[in-house]
This record gives sequence, C-alpha cells and structure tokens, in this order.
Amino acid sequence: MAAAFTAGAGINWRQCQVQVRAWQAVCIKAGGEVQVMMVAGSASGLRGELKYAEPMSAHTSWRVGGPADRCYRPADLDDLKLFLASLPEHEPVLWVGLGSNLLVRDGGIRGTVILPFGGLDTLHRLDDSRLRAGAGVACAKVARFAARAGLTGAEFLAGIPGTMGGALAMNAGAFGGETWSLVAGVETLDHRGELHERIAADYQIAYRTVIGPADEWFVSVELQLKSGDADAAQSRIRSLLERRSATQPTQQPSCGSVFRNPADNFAARLIESCGLKGEQIGDAQVSEKHANFIVNLGQARAADIEALIRYVQERVQQKHGISLQAEVRIVGEFER
Ligand SMILES: Cc1cc2nc3c(=O)[nH]c(=O)nc-3n(C[C@H](O)[C@H](O)[C@H](O)COP(=O)(O)OP(=O)(O)OC[C@H]3O[C@@H](n4cnc5c(N)ncnc54)[C@H](O)[C@@H]3O)c2cc1C
Repeated sequence: MAAAFTAGAGINWRQCQVQVRAWQAVCIKAGGEVQVMMVAGSASGLRGELKYAEPMSAHTSWRVGGPADRCYRPADLDDLKLFLASLPEHEPVLWVGLGSNLLVRDGGIRGTVILPFGGLDTLHRLDDSRLRAGAGVACAKVARFAARAGLTGAEFLAGIPGTMGGALAMNAGAFGGETWSLVAGVETLDHRGELHERIAADYQIAYRTVIGPADEWFVSVELQLKSGDADAAQSRIRSLLERRSATQPTQQPSCGSVFRNPADNFAARLIESCGLKGEQIGDAQVSEKHANFIVNLGQARAADIEALIRYVQERVQQKHGISLQAEVRIVGEFER
C-alpha cells in the first residue's frame, strides 16, 4: 500500500530526491516539510509510470512548457485511486489529457501531473444507443468507434485532438455539437481517490465552461447517442475533417482556437480586422490560415505565445472595445 511519511531529521530536499529514487519512492515538499511517499514498485502496489522533471512540451500540442515536478501515468483506474490516495493532502494536482488546450509556462509545474491517456482507456458499447468511454480515450477514437457501431451524434468529436476527459472539462464542441449534450452520466475521482457518480445536473454547463464539484476529475463518461446508419456517420466524419483541414492550420503545432467567441461575434473576424494575421513574437505566430489560431513555427517558447495572446487582446480592445477571453488554459510558473 502506498503511504506518505515525513523524512527523517537531517535529510534535506536534495538528499531526499537522490536517496528515495533507489527505494522507488518520491519526495514531496508539503507545508514546508519534506515528505517521502512510496509510490512505485511491488512494495507500494502501484503499477503506473512515474517520471520526475518531465518536460511538459512532450505533453502539449503547442510543444512548449517547462518541467513538471512529477508526472504519473496510471496503469488503470484502480491504480490511479491508489496513487491519489497516497498523495499528501495539499499536493497540487493537475490533470493533462492531450494538452491540446493548455499553455504550460516555461518554468513548468510544481506538484504532480496526472496523465490519463493510455491508462483510463476503456471503450465499449452498452446497448443500441449508449457507450462508455474512459477519460483517457482520444475523442477521435470515440467518434470512429461510435460511427462504426451505427451510433450517431458524436461525429463532431472526430476533429477534436484531445481526450474525453479534456472534452468534458472544456465542454468541447464543433460544427453545432457539444460534448455535454451527449452526456448521460460521468464518473469522477476526488483527491483521496474515491469514486463518484455524477449527472449533468451536478454541473453548470455553458459554452466551453463546466463548473462542478470542486476537487474532482473525470475518469469515465457514458454517452447517450442515437441509433443510425454507420456508413452515413463515417462519411460525415470524413466531411467534417475535410472542412477542418481546409480552414485550420492542422499541420502546425497549435492549441486550436485561442480565444472564445464573444457573444454575437467571432474572435477570428475581430483579430483579422486588426490586421494581425501573420503577427509574430519569437516563433509564435497568429496563423495566416485562421486568425484565432496561434501556431508554433518551431522554436516558440510559452512566453512568446503568452506575449502574443496579450498583444492580440490589447489590439482588439483598442480597435473594437471588446475584451477577448482566452479559451486556452494557461498554467504553471514563469521561468526564473
Ligand atoms: C488543431 C486543434 C483543433 C481544435 N479544435 C477544437 C474544436 O473544434 N472544439 C473545441 O472545443 N476544442 C478544440 N480544440 C481544443 C482542445 O482540443 C479541446 O479543448 C479538448 O477538449 C482538450 O482536451 P485535452 O484532453 O487535450 O485537454 P487538456 O488540454 O489536456 O486539458 C484541458 C483542461 O481540461 C482539464 N482536464 C483534462 N483532463 C481532465 C479530466 N480527466 N478531468 C478533469 N479535468 C481534465 C485540464 O486540467 C485542463 O484544465 C482544438 C485544439 C487543436 C490543437
């Protein structure tokens, strides 16, 4: 069983980091104390993969972001329950799906990142109109699975390059479809690793906004779809993907739409009208193809992207008096 305990007197942070790796444990600074937590190996019962100082650029679609102190990819749901239960009470925890809506700053993330992709990967049909998907399953996989099974309504998910967990957290949507309009129920885990069953009424849901019980994360979803024609659903997926690649810079690292559309307007139209297409800070560029996308031309840093976001907001505010709100979530520390 995993357990946290305080390091013995005289062990400082650096010694702790070095020594406990050999014991397959991890050090956490909690409330000014150094704590040692057994986390991996046969003694702890944990089966997931733990990495230290993991560059978040490997886990974000912008390909930027400094190191996370610890990253844990659980083997499965039971493993994740055990891991969460082993964390000190106040350990900061961030869940990262496929990082397709995240700007992680260059100084990285203090605390523990949970990576459900590859771990929470169950996907099965329940009956002739419902399916259940783990939060770590890619949205595109869910869309294709549903379409092949003749379950319709989830085709729009095919072009969203994130996980189902991320889609639930963001109420991701496209081409008139929205994630939560399909949700029959979700399962969540809390900080202590306890499982909860929730329904849509437990959340406040709006355009790209989901507010629910604090300190809980999605681990699976049951989708209510319609029974329909498999060929027609697959053909709709192909046509939606073609529309995307015609209008979006899908071959360049990005985070999709950076800003929410203001009421009765389009962020892309406002940005383009300020002449900002092609505007660049470092290797971060307002896409020439779609003004609401910022692309990484190769060597962009998170600071370049964030500076460009602020610059676009200022210019749109000056010209139109409209304050653009970021859809992208910005997390982590500035580089010192
Ligand atoms: C090319 C491109 C096109 C895109 N097109 C669209 C689009 O058409 N429509 C759209 O809505 N979005 C779009 N996006 C944005 C993005 O794909 C979605 O917001 C997606 O839902 C994010 O999923 P993710 O798994 O990558 O989440 P992440 O980016 O990893 O995380 C996003 C947020 O969700 C939280 N989160 C992640 N997993 C969980 C979980 N299991 N439980 C609780 N919280 C969690 C994270 O902590 C974070 O706050 C696009 C992005 C790209 C790069």
